[in-house]
Amino acid sequence: MSMYDFLIVGSGLFGAVFAHEMKAAGKKCLVLERRDHTGGNVYCEEKESIRIHRYGAHIFHTSDKTVWDYVNRFVEFNNYINSPVANYKGELYNLPFNMNTFARMWGVVTPAEAAAKIAEQRKEAGITDPKNLEEQAISLIGTDIYTKLIKGYTEKQWGRSCTELPAFIIKRLPVRYTFDNNYFNDRYQGIPVGGYNKLIDALLSGIEVRTGVDYNKERAAYQDMAETIVYTGPIDEYFGYTLGNLEYRGLHFETERLEEQNHQGVAVMNYTDRGTPWTRIIEHKHFEFGTQPVTYITREYPADWKPGDEAYYPVNNDKNQALYAKYAELAKKEKNVIFGGRLAEYKYYDMDDVIGRALEVVKGML
Ligand code: UDP
Repeated sequence: MSMYDFLIVGSGLFGAVFAHEMKAAGKKCLVLERRDHTGGNVYCEEKESIRIHRYGAHIFHTSDKTVWDYVNRFVEFNNYINSPVANYKGELYNLPFNMNTFARMWGVVTPAEAAAKIAEQRKEAGITDPKNLEEQAISLIGTDIYTKLIKGYTEKQWGRSCTELPAFIIKRLPVRYTFDNNYFNDRYQGIPVGGYNKLIDALLSGIEVRTGVDYNKERAAYQDMAETIVYTGPIDEYFGYTLGNLEYRGLHFETERLEEQNHQGVAVMNYTDRGTPWTRIIEHKHFEFGTQPVTYITREYPADWKPGDEAYYPVNNDKNQALYAKYAELAKKEKNVIFGGRLAEYKYYDMDDVIGRALEVVKGML
C-alpha cells in the first residue's frame, strides 16, 4: 500500500489544480516543489503592498466559461484589461494592432483606409502563402508595422531572425479594424484580487506540500510513495536528457524601486526597437490599480538559455518538436506517471489552457 494516491511534482497551475481536484475526490496527495515557494511562474512577491510578478507578467484571460467559473470559485478577479503600449524609439503606439495603431502609423482615419494601406504593403511584399513569422506578419499588417513594432521585438525575444520563426507565434496577437486596445480577444480577463498566490494557496489548501525538494534528484526517496506520479517539470530532465535537451528561451529580470507614484502610466510597455536591450518594462502596480506613493518596475531581458537555467518559453521549432515527440513516446511507456503542464508537455501554454487541461485529465481519471 502506498502512502499517497498521487505524488505531484511541481506546484504550478497544473499541479495545484490536479491536487485540488483529487483531494476533493477523496484522494491523498503529496505535492513536491523544488523552489522555496509554490505557484510556479504565477508566483508574486509583495513589496510595499505592490505584488511583483517575479517570473514575468501574468494576465489571466480566457473564453472558456468552465475555466473562468472554476477560478472564480477561489478568487475574485479585478477588471484589469491588458492594453500594452509599444515604444519604438520614443514613438508610442497602441497594441494590439488596431485602428489606434494604424491612425498613429499612417494618419489613416477609417477602417477602409487602414485595410487599403495594409493590402498595398502586402502586395508590394509579394507574399501569397506565408511560410514564417516575417511573411505571416507582413501579410497580416504590412511592412511598416512589421518593421517598427514586430521585427526588433521578436528577434530580441527569440534570439532568432523572424524568417526562422514559426508563424503561429504572431497569430497570438489580434489584428483589429476597431479602436479597441484590449490585447486579448477573450470573453473574460483580469488579475486575481489579492494576487495569484491567493489562488494557488486556495487550490492547495489542506494538501501536504514540501518545498525545496527536487524530485529528479531525490527520486529514490519519493517515487514509491504514491500509486501515481504527476510530473510537471521539464520532460527531458525527467529522462535524464538521454535523447538530448529541449531548448528554451530564457528571461532575465531587473526590478527597481522608484520614488514616484506613476512611472510609465501603463502596466506593460513594449520596447520594439532592436537597440533597446530589454523587450518590455512592467510597472506592476498598474495590474491592480495601485495608488502607493512608490512604484516597482521590472525590465525584462530575453536571454540565451542552457540546461539548468530557469526555463521560460519553449522554442517550438521543427527540431525541438521532433525531439519532444520522442520524449513523449518514452513518457507513454512510463507506467503510472502523468506528464502535464508547460514544461512536461513542452508547450507555449496560456494559464487558462493549463487549468483546462488539468481539469480534463482529472475528469478522465475519475
Ligand atoms: N510581438 C511583437 N511586438 C510586440 C508584442 C508582441 O512583435 O510589441 C510578437 C512577438 O513575436 C511575441 C509574440 O508577438 O513573441 C507573442 O506576444 P505575446 O504578448 O503573446 O507574448 P508573451 O506575453 O507570451 O510573452
